[in-house]
Amino acid sequence: MIKRNACFSMLTAGYLFPEIARRRREYQAAHPDAEIISLGIGNTTEPLTPVICGALTDYAKKLSTPEGYSGYGDECGNEDLRTAIAQNWYKGTVSPDEVFVSDGAKCDIARIQTLFGADVSVAVQDPAYPVYVDGSVISGAAGTHKPMYGNEGYGGIVYMPCTAENSFFPDLTKVQDNSLIYFCSPNNPTGAAATREQLTKLVEFAKAHGCIIIFDAAYACFIRDESLPRSIFDIEGAKTCAIEINSFSKPAGFTGVRLGWSVVPKELKYEDESSVNTDWARVNTTLFNGASNIAQAGGVAAMSPEGQAEMRALTDYYLENARIIRETLLSARFADMGVEVYGGDNAPYIWARFPGYRSWNVFDKILDQCRVVTTPGVGFGPAGESFIRFSAFGHRAAVEEACRRLATTLVLE
Ligand SMILES: *Cc1c(COP(=O)(O)O)cnc(C)c1O
Repeated sequence: MIKRNACFSMLTAGYLFPEIARRRREYQAAHPDAEIISLGIGNTTEPLTPVICGALTDYAKKLSTPEGYSGYGDECGNEDLRTAIAQNWYKGTVSPDEVFVSDGAKCDIARIQTLFGADVSVAVQDPAYPVYVDGSVISGAAGTHKPMYGNEGYGGIVYMPCTAENSFFPDLTKVQDNSLIYFCSPNNPTGAAATREQLTKLVEFAKAHGCIIIFDAAYACFIRDESLPRSIFDIEGAKTCAIEINSFSKPAGFTGVRLGWSVVPKELKYEDESSVNTDWARVNTTLFNGASNIAQAGGVAAMSPEGQAEMRALTDYYLENARIIRETLLSARFADMGVEVYGGDNAPYIWARFPGYRSWNVFDKILDQCRVVTTPGVGFGPAGESFIRFSAFGHRAAVEEACRRLATTLVLE
């Protein structure tokens, strides 16, 4: 018999969303008439917008004609989309051959690890989007011995706590030299958007210590404060030490359509001075065969001025949901419980701390008393204990009803 890849036994997370679903099912079974509302999962709910959807359908129809049909395209992305991203999103500060089109950010985050191998040291924000740790573990970065799972991380993976006390910007001194640093801003789950000063600190640190930053900008479209950078490449010197990963999922509702991109600058080098961009092109041509051409046609439309206006309107909608949730959690009822509220202004997540309570305990009370599903913060890492993540993805009426229940019903005692 063939042995299992020993790295899989090192996975500790991955139970979070199944466990939430299990508790929800259990509650529903006990209360068959209860109308449960989810403010839990980060999945989009609003329909595709007209210009972007028009481009998808036009392209699909074109494929049914002899003149319009095309098969495999460039594995790294079609030229028109790479150019549109370089010019319209990055205003020409990156070139089209530094842009690689993908089937989504999560897939790129997983594939990127192949560039650095199993021996690389990894640093992640704590709490964090689970794929940074789990993808690294599957690639072997945590080794194959049973984890010492705790506040310090495990194997070659270092956790960098991001808490209210450090304004959700980590102490970088724990990061080993020559590490891969995963950094997400605006952040899932904390909703924190890093300032120019913070990102400058991050870039300076990476340059001084031989690190490469994997900058996850999947929520860049939600930034409304004009002083906040929406790309790591807005920071001087980042091209020598950073890769940016982005996605159409949240701003264009492409969670099911599937389309994203990465930027790997030509200036980015390994220790031996060879080019990371060249290897990334090799990974894309060898392990990936390009994103759907229909989705890419939608991406080109999304990058047009009309498409960008539609993404703005769609993200405005979710940000209004976020504002409604924030207001609710800032009301006297929650202030009296000592609840602290973060995020939700430049991100579709509100990160609320319930001092003295455990995340799962608060999750159960909110489900039980309000019939609202949330996400326990501790599921994103040990520094998330006592927090609850409220997601602003939802239909307006459902969000309003959930907030009404929270504001009138929840008692923690
Ligand atoms: C939703 C999300 C993504 C997007 O993933 P896709 O694979 O493009 O759908 C990436 N990073 C974070 C932090 C996310 O929350």
